[in-house]
Amino acid sequence: MTDVTLHDTLCALTLTLVLTGPRMVLNTRPLITTPLIPYPMALIVQKYGGTSVGSVERIGAVADRVARFKSEGHDMVVVVSAMSGETNRLMGLAKEIQKNPAPRELDALLSTGEKVTTALLSMALGERAVRAKSFSANQVGILTDSAHNKARIQDIRAEALQAELEVGGVPVVAGFQGVDVQGNVTTLGRGGSDTTAVALAAALKADECQIYTDVDGVYTTDPRMVDGAKRLDQITFEEMLEMSSMGSKVLQIRSVEFAGKYKVPLRVLSSFEGGPGTLITTEEDTSMEAPVIAGIAFNRDEAKLTVVGVPDNPGIAYRILGPVGEANIEVDVILQNSRGENSTDFTFTVARGDMEAAAEVLTPVVTELGAGEVLTDDHIAKVSVVGVGMRSHSGVAATMFKALADVGVNIQMISTSEIKISVIIEEKFLELAVRSLHSAFGLDTVED
Ligand code: ASP
Ligand code: MG
Repeated sequence: MTDVTLHDTLCALTLTLVLTGPRMVLNTRPLITTPLIPYPMALIVQKYGGTSVGSVERIGAVADRVARFKSEGHDMVVVVSAMSGETNRLMGLAKEIQKNPAPRELDALLSTGEKVTTALLSMALGERAVRAKSFSANQVGILTDSAHNKARIQDIRAEALQAELEVGGVPVVAGFQGVDVQGNVTTLGRGGSDTTAVALAAALKADECQIYTDVDGVYTTDPRMVDGAKRLDQITFEEMLEMSSMGSKVLQIRSVEFAGKYKVPLRVLSSFEGGPGTLITTEEDTSMEAPVIAGIAFNRDEAKLTVVGVPDNPGIAYRILGPVGEANIEVDVILQNSRGENSTDFTFTVARGDMEAAAEVLTPVVTELGAGEVLTDDHIAKVSVVGVGMRSHSGVAATMFKALADVGVNIQMISTSEIKISVIIEEKFLELAVRSLHSAFGLDTVED
C-alpha cells in the first residue's frame, strides 16, 4: 500500500492550480529517447544523487555532463543530494549530542548537506565557463507544511529560477529541503531530493526530469537475484509504483506519485554508464511485442497473523483490523474465507517489525470474540507480477500459478489488483519463485 494521503492530494491539487494551471496539452515536443536530447531547446531538470556527487572528481563529471547539455542548447535546472554518506554523518553528530533532537534543529542540520553540493557544483560549472548559481529551498521558494523531517511540498515559486533561466544560467537547487510559512527550514524525508526534482519539473513544465543514480535504470526484477534481469526501456507510473512499493527502491515513491499526477516524464539513468536508462511515462507500450508483465517484484518485509476460530458474523473484520489500524499498523494482504459455518480463520500480513505489536493488540480482541488464538509467522515473503498488460490479457494468474506449481512452491495467500497479482509464500522459496516467474513470463534476457 502506498502512502498517498488526502493531505498529499490536497497539496497536489493546490500545486496544480497555483503553479501550473490546468494543462491540457503536455509535452507537445517528442518524447526524449536518448539522454543526449536530439532536438534543441528542451527544458530538462536533472537530479544527481549522493553517489553521483560523492567526491570532487564526481562533481566535476556532473559539471561536464551539464555543460554538454547546455552547449547543445538545452535549458538546464540541476537538483543535488548531499554527498554520499553526508546526511547519515550529520544525523550521527546530532545523536551524539541528543537522543531525540528537536525536529526543527535536525532539519536545520540535515539541510546543510545539500547546500554544500549546490555551491561546489556551481563552482565546478563556473570553472567550465557555464553560468551557474546555487539556490537553497528558501531562495527558490519551495514552500512546505511544517511537518519537520517529513514535510510535504505545498507550493513552488518558479520566478527566481525562471529569471535565472532567462539569462541563460543554470540554477543548481538543493534537494530534500523546503521552507514553511514561518521561514523554518524543513526536510522532505530520506531520499527526498527525487521529489524536489519532480516538483520543480512540474512547476517549470520541464520536458523531462532525469534522475541520475548508481543504477542504469529500472529492471524486470532485482538483478542481484536473477542474472537474466533486463533493464526496461520504459514503464508506466502505475507499474513503477507497484514495483517500488515492493522493494525496488530506485526512486522515492512519493516522487513517482508526484510525477504521475503531473505527467512529468521521468527518466532514471546512471551517472557512471551511458545508456538511455528507463523512461517512466503515462504512455503504455502498445506494440505487438509489448510484454504483458513489466516485472516481478518481491518483498521480504512481511509477517503473517492468523486469528484462529473467529465467529463468522458481520463486523468481525472490523473488530480485528480496527484496533490494528488504531495502533498505526499498516495491513497488507488480507484473507478470510467463510465456509458458512460458525467459525472461520482470519489472516492478514503486516510489516515484520509490526508483527509483535499487532499480536499484542489482538490479545484482548481474541478474548472478547471468544476466538481460539493468534498465530504468527515471520518467515514469509510476497512475490508479485506487475503489468498494465494484465488489463487486456487473460491467463496471467494461471501462468503464475503454474510456474509456482512446477517448482513446488506452495501459495499461502493471494491478492490481486487491476495490474498486479501477489502471492504470499514461505520465505525460503523466494528466490526460486522469482526466478521461475521471471522466466515463465518471458522476461529473461535472450542471449544472442
Ligand atoms: N540527502 C538526503 C538523504 O540522504 C536526501 C536524498 O539523498 O535524496 O536521504
Ligand atoms: Mg538519494
